[in-house]
Amino acid sequence: MRIIIPALTLCLTRESDMDKLLDQTYPFQLPALGFAYDALEPHFDARTMEIHHSKHHAAYVNNLNAAIEKHPHLHGVPLGDLLRNLPSLPAEIQATVRNNGGGHFNHALFWQLLQPGGPAAPGGELRQAIDAAFGSFGAFQEKFAQAAATRFGSGWAWLAVDAFGRLQVLSTANQDGPQMDGMVPIVGLDVWEHAYYLKFQNRRPEYVQTFWNVLNWDVVNGWFTARR
Ligand code: MN
Repeated sequence: MRIIIPALTLCLTRESDMDKLLDQTYPFQLPALGFAYDALEPHFDARTMEIHHSKHHAAYVNNLNAAIEKHPHLHGVPLGDLLRNLPSLPAEIQATVRNNGGGHFNHALFWQLLQPGGPAAPGGELRQAIDAAFGSFGAFQEKFAQAAATRFGSGWAWLAVDAFGRLQVLSTANQDGPQMDGMVPIVGLDVWEHAYYLKFQNRRPEYVQTFWNVLNWDVVNGWFTARR
């Protein structure tokens, strides 16, 4: 495992799926979705899921590999380290790694959050932390929806654990994410138009509300617990 947050590292007891995402190295591979493209119907439609995974995410992986391929000293470097050390990369691939490495990580995380069958709300320690940070689960959902709705252009909305162990709602542009700034993302929502336009057209807020129907809180809870 490879984490740069000392306070959290001390408490980590096992390698989580999040660590596996951060520790992967070149050549990067498009991960299997883990469920059928139509498994999230009627909330997220099959056609959007198929294009999103097999075209958009695949392109991020291919572009990232093409950039890293030419730099053998980076072949063994974990994805998490690439994303946290962009200024140390060769100048000509910094933007490519930021956009496509970020895109690969964010989407790999997103698919795991959408695994069907989880509970519709957080429980236990995570629920207590959400209540403490935002007042209530409903207040958190409102704040998250606001972050997703007001992100201008393409980007992501997040719930993340910051370097001091506190929960933060934030949004990022393009394929940036909390993992680039020393935070640990535990919920991420893609608000690029390619994630919703076929079904929701310009109705991003409706897409955000639908997200609550497909977000697997067991996965979120697992990442939260592993990071404390
Ligand atoms: Mn996307």
